[in-house]
Amino acid sequence: MVLIFLDQAGGHIRKASLEAASYGAAIATQTCTTTEAIVLGTISEDLSSLGKYGISTVHNISDASLDEMDAAVYTKVIADFITASNATVIVFANNLVAKAVAPRLSARLNAGYVSGAVALPDTSNGFVVKKNVFSGKAFANVSINTAIKIISLNSNSFSILVGDGVAEIKTVSATISPAKVKVLSTNKVVGEVPLTEAEIVISGGRGLKGPENWGLVTDLAKLLGAATACSRPVADIHWRPHHEHVGQTGIAIAPNLYIAIGISGAIQHLAGVNRSKTIVVINKDPEAPFFKAADYGIVGDAFEVVPKMIEAIKKIKEN
Ligand SMILES: Cc1cc2nc3c(=O)[nH]c(=O)nc-3n(C[C@H](O)[C@H](O)[C@H](O)COP(=O)(O)OP(=O)(O)OC[C@H]3O[C@@H](n4cnc5c(N)ncnc54)[C@H](O)[C@@H]3O)c2cc1C
Repeated sequence: MVLIFLDQAGGHIRKASLEAASYGAAIATQTCTTTEAIVLGTISEDLSSLGKYGISTVHNISDASLDEMDAAVYTKVIADFITASNATVIVFANNLVAKAVAPRLSARLNAGYVSGAVALPDTSNGFVVKKNVFSGKAFANVSINTAIKIISLNSNSFSILVGDGVAEIKTVSATISPAKVKVLSTNKVVGEVPLTEAEIVISGGRGLKGPENWGLVTDLAKLLGAATACSRPVADIHWRPHHEHVGQTGIAIAPNLYIAIGISGAIQHLAGVNRSKTIVVINKDPEAPFFKAADYGIVGDAFEVVPKMIEAIKKIKEN
């Protein structure tokens, strides 16, 4: 059986998990087995509708203590479930939860783990998974030889496939060990599109000269329902908060549309954004390296180009 780990936030299944579900269902078809899923915590949506992504059964361990992720607690609960089931392939969306839980699970179950898969495994002779290496500059084909195989799927690497199935829901009980780390308080950013979930990201760099000019980025983002991001120096000099910094040492994102304003396109920046489906670059220097990675480029001063874009989009929206 292929087991999908469904990641939830606030009781809702994250979009990246739906890609993982479609991907896992395709592996199950390829290897002539079934697709089931596990979700931890209290869920406020209809889990049976997940059947349309190819899942036959959703196992919900609905204990409220699992609403927030604790890597050690999650690992034990999932490992116990896998041990009691006949799951041989476990699929995660490659996000922060997977980064915290999947390696621990791999160690606990003695299971081979490939993070950041970008294509279906080749099962014609063994189980070989293709993944990005060197910040997306090359691919590696990695063979998993253990009985249990764990994969995390890069976002935007596999299309969500929608059918008309209905999943059976099973409520499962589990022995939950108390967390060794207690979260005393959390400070959640509200009212913004989360960067890792965003379909559109508007990002600003040092070319914007100072934090007082960030209205250009935020106005465009609001208009397009986008998240905002920035280059590393912008966060380092405190023009923008660090949680917006994308790149090799920041968050890696893969939105459908990435608009980079006044960002040079250094290799360390590209490492975090080059999996975006469409990249638009606005830079006044025609030699800026980012243009080589761009699908569309606008050579011009951001302070002239962006207000014109905002006006044009407003006009389109009005009509
Ligand atoms: C180990 C290491 C890790 C790193 N990790 C990261 C990372 O994760 N993320 C990251 O972003 N960087 C990272 N960096 C830094 C990276 O190398 C670059 O220095 C950084 O990305 C440059 O940021 P920038 O493009 O905003 O600024 P700059 O390089 O200063 O570029 C500004 C750009 O704006 C353009 N511009 C100027 N004025 C205008 C205008 N009016 N209109 C339009 N365009 C204009 C300029 O032509 C220029 O291309 C890392 C560096 C190292 C050494």
